Amino acid sequence: MERCSSKESLVLGTMVLTVRAGLEPDAHEDFTVHDNLIRTHSPFIDAAMRNDWKEAQERLIKMPETDPVCFHIYVQWLYSSRIHSAVTTAAKPGSTIWAYSKALNREFDTLVGCWIMGDVLRDTDFQDATMDILMKLCRTIHGLGIEILGPLAHYVYAHTTGKTSPLKALLVAHTTVSLTPRKMELFFKEDYPKDFVTEVLSAVYRRWNNGNTGQLLNLEAKCETYHQHYKTGGPCYKDKLPKPMPL
Ligand SMILES: [Zn+2]
Repeated sequence: MERCSSKESLVLGTMVLTVRAGLEPDAHEDFTVHDNLIRTHSPFIDAAMRNDWKEAQERLIKMPETDPVCFHIYVQWLYSSRIHSAVTTAAKPGSTIWAYSKALNREFDTLVGCWIMGDVLRDTDFQDATMDILMKLCRTIHGLGIEILGPLAHYVYAHTTGKTSPLKALLVAHTTVSLTPRKMELFFKEDYPKDFVTEVLSAVYRRWNNGNTGQLLNLEAKCETYHQHYKTGGPCYKDKLPKPMPL
């Protein structure tokens, strides 16, 4: 265990509020969180609590479109600065690679949901931390030769705005590398969003034109490509994490 500076400890206060994630009456879950902590991280929650709305008076914020699984990961992140998304650590002896890849794909889907929820909360640190895990997952999934697309492209393109969304860029990069000439036929059979198809084909053309047909997925954790904080010039979440102070 590393010790850290007391100056970098959480400032919690005594007030709490409740976030209701998911659809009522039976698909929701309530999360009680320290007011100061969540409002420091989420401008969306802060704005909701500043207004004289019912939410602020009742100290209850409803997010019906948010998956409770994603919000659980968010609460863990707020208190621990860790992303607790893993449902499996490695392929277990005796289990098939198929079972392992299904678990990774499920985690990938959950983290995509987390990134989109981070957009609603306007918490760019959470989005950037989530993105770093997504990139690692992409590398592993690609190494196993598994597809991650399916309905995901539809979901991402319906829930993100702007051509420069890092989530779209990640999906396009992964698909571009996975798309061998043999798989091209399958790609066209799917009814993917038009913008997605256009971006993938442009990237494939550039890649093949440059003579790069290698299988390595070059997903560097570069702030300028995949982190939201870079657009506003703010510091990276990595520089805000508590630093260990060795004795
Ligand atoms: Zn960064």
